Amino acid sequence: MRRLPYGANYLDWEDMSELREAVDGKILFRYQTTNPSISERLERHIEYRFGARHALAVHNCTEGLRLCLLATQPRVGDLVYVPAVTFVAVVGAVLSCGLIPVVVDVDEDFHLDPRKLPEGASRVIVAHMEGLVGPLPRGPAFVIEDAAQALGGRHGDGRCAGAAGWAGVFSFHHNKVLTSGEGGAVITNDSRALERMRMYHDHGSERVHGEYPRWSDSAFYGENCVTSEPIAAIQCQQFRHLDTILEGLWRGYRFLREEMEHARPLFVARDRKQGDVPVSLRIECESREARDRAVDRLRARRLPYWTLDRYFLPDHPVMTLRRSIYADGFPWNLSPSEANTPACSRTRDRLERVLCLPISPELSEREHVAEAEAFRAALASL
Ligand SMILES: *Cc1c(COP(=O)(O)O)cnc(C)c1O
Repeated sequence: MRRLPYGANYLDWEDMSELREAVDGKILFRYQTTNPSISERLERHIEYRFGARHALAVHNCTEGLRLCLLATQPRVGDLVYVPAVTFVAVVGAVLSCGLIPVVVDVDEDFHLDPRKLPEGASRVIVAHMEGLVGPLPRGPAFVIEDAAQALGGRHGDGRCAGAAGWAGVFSFHHNKVLTSGEGGAVITNDSRALERMRMYHDHGSERVHGEYPRWSDSAFYGENCVTSEPIAAIQCQQFRHLDTILEGLWRGYRFLREEMEHARPLFVARDRKQGDVPVSLRIECESREARDRAVDRLRARRLPYWTLDRYFLPDHPVMTLRRSIYADGFPWNLSPSEANTPACSRTRDRLERVLCLPISPELSEREHVAEAEAFRAALASL
């Protein structure tokens, strides 16, 4: 049986019309001609699919987060509230914009707990980890939804994950729901913010397609985060499989969820709600020791799993040691060291008891059943 917890993709020469178009037309750069590019087609599709006014394709989700933060036109050293449990790319994006990440403890589902935000918080990043779509705080002007792990997810009110805040970001990295190796996108309904992002992502220029970039007096400096036509072509093709992937994840989830009923009370599976993207079955173990025994067992049987310990930001050296590549420690040097991270000790305790069993969306029904039975057998009589 093929087990691919990561990198499920449906690359197929029979279905690569956009990539053939790019190669046949010898067009790799999105602004090469005045004709609508494949990158634009991708952006229109993302807007349509997720119900957002604007989309901008970029190289990866971390760049997308940076563009969102910069488009808020912050002052150096401004605070950005981030969840205690998320991938370190979130703090990397904040710090590399000259901003200070402030960790906020999370709720039962490991989502940033809006009740723990201080009054007057203006910039907040929430992250829908492992496809669990979480709540959004109401007060802050700039709520950025990190939907890197929740492409295709929905909130309870029907809005798409990523489209319910001020801006949202997606990743098409190898580990994510859809992949083009690397890749990312930003969505927002804020037209002026989108314009700032578009300029910043193309050297601060006001680009006219088919021409050299232009800079007016109102331009600012920027970077180069412009996507490429072949990557956009692969993303267009991958999007045709998003619904199949979501169905495959739910099918695998249901079989696995049922099998894991037998593992109670040592291992208790958490239910997914409608709108989630079930990339895994999340199990809370009775104790850390039970979790570690389960991990040994899964390893011995070469079954895939992951844990969430590595997502605990309060223990990450970038946070604890306030690490920076700058000689003067920028931007940490702008923030007093006592403005420190909360301990989040209950969260750490709970994280250490979590075990995640990945769901492979491309397996057939029979393979899903076999996989679920293999997991059950591995965790039996522990
Ligand atoms: C993967 C990931 C990112 C970064 O995405 P890249 O496309 O690899 O830059 C950011 N946030 C979360 C929650 C992620 O899982």
